[in-house]
Amino acid sequence: MKVFNTLSKRKEEFVPVEEGKVKMYVCGPTVYNYIHIGNARPMIVFDTVRRYFEYKGYDVNFVSNFTDVDDKIIKKAIEEGVTADEVSKRFIEECKKDMAGMNVKPATTHPLATEEIDGMIEMIGQLIEKGYAYEKNGTVYFRTRKFEEYGKLSHKNLDDLQSGGRSLLVTGEDEKEDSLDFVLWKPKKEGEPAWESPWCDGRPGWHIECSVMSKKYLGEQIDIHAGGEDLVFPHHENEIAQSEAANGKEFAKYWMHNAFLNIDNKKMSKSLGNFRTVREISEQYDLQVLRFFMLSAHYRSPLNFSADLMEASKNGLDRIVTAVANLKHLISAATVDSMTDAEKEAFAKTVEFVTGFETAMEDDFNTADAVSSVFELVKYANTTASGDSSKEYLESILALIVKLTDVLGLIVEKEEELLAEDIEKLIEERQAARKAKNFARADEIRNELLEKGIILEDTREGVKWRKA
Ligand code: AMP
Ligand code: ZN
Repeated sequence: MKVFNTLSKRKEEFVPVEEGKVKMYVCGPTVYNYIHIGNARPMIVFDTVRRYFEYKGYDVNFVSNFTDVDDKIIKKAIEEGVTADEVSKRFIEECKKDMAGMNVKPATTHPLATEEIDGMIEMIGQLIEKGYAYEKNGTVYFRTRKFEEYGKLSHKNLDDLQSGGRSLLVTGEDEKEDSLDFVLWKPKKEGEPAWESPWCDGRPGWHIECSVMSKKYLGEQIDIHAGGEDLVFPHHENEIAQSEAANGKEFAKYWMHNAFLNIDNKKMSKSLGNFRTVREISEQYDLQVLRFFMLSAHYRSPLNFSADLMEASKNGLDRIVTAVANLKHLISAATVDSMTDAEKEAFAKTVEFVTGFETAMEDDFNTADAVSSVFELVKYANTTASGDSSKEYLESILALIVKLTDVLGLIVEKEEELLAEDIEKLIEERQAARKAKNFARADEIRNELLEKGIILEDTREGVKWRKA
């Protein structure tokens, strides 16, 4: 399997640190608002990466944090007259709802920065002890030049950075030994959340959070560290400096970054007012359509969000969903059970689509080509399945479509809603079965309804039903 590594700027063969296991960390959102569709891109992309590793039989430990202490959260809390904690808790819950809608699996662990402060204080202490950090008036800075490999991820040259850095100095930062040094711990300001530390009451810098949470939940060396491309510098560059200086080990073997999502060919930003939340999209579309749209491009290519492309994605997804519904219908009406020899031969040909799908995914997770293979399989199913097909053939091809689309995290099996009249008919059939003392059939009907969320109640006035 080939993975493009931002460190080497090349596709590299994936070799796990520990056989059969993948340890991956994805930088999560800062929770001060509903997530926008740009934030959704890394969620969907790296959830798909995880799912492909799982499909290949790897045991994946997937960690993704919530940054729940930050200037933007504090600002929002002040505006609303509530605590920062209230703001972050609310938007973590909302974010989880959006993730569920997009069928993004919950991480193995979702650590919260505010619950990991002790670990951060410990790592900052180690960095000071090793000479990689120093304290000035309560603020602790990382001594960037001391970490000789600084710049290896973003391929930046320290001297170029230095000349740009001087003009970027913020007031109060002139106490730094060097303009390249960055903050690990900062003193609290009035009204801000703060924690006790050996240096002052204050809070951590953003970069140290991820170094610490990654170490705690995945260990000192991990396989994949990921996020959007805007995080390469300075966030990930700084994470590498902190972790490798503290642990004395290579931090992550592969660094993966998704390209940006634009809107109507312009950068999506709050100031341009072209900002869309996942929640807004969900009012117009099933979020599966958004997921399908994201996977229609390679994750390292910029992707443009537009109404036309969403419509095209909706149609594309519908083609798969319709084919699946059609197969299910044929299965329920099939009169032959086992595959004929001709069907066995026909089914053997589907291996071509599976190979196409896997080849695409093995090539740095080319989901666009993987989706094409799924379309080919669907077309094949549409042309080879008919009312004469055996149940076994139909079920096998259906299972294959579901298996591959599940790797992409797409839900293609629509739950059929039972109509009230269908429920009444089944209840009548159940009553007749009971009268005829066919209790097995009566129970079967009750269970069938229960599976579809319909509860039957036997009352004196007869059988009543309600939704679970
Ligand atoms: P943030 O909450 O800004 O820290 O962002 C959370 C994640 O979303 C990071 O991995 C960002 O790189 C990513 N991200 C933010 N905006 C976009 C965008 N427009 N397109 C793709 N990824 C984005
Ligand atoms: Zn991070």
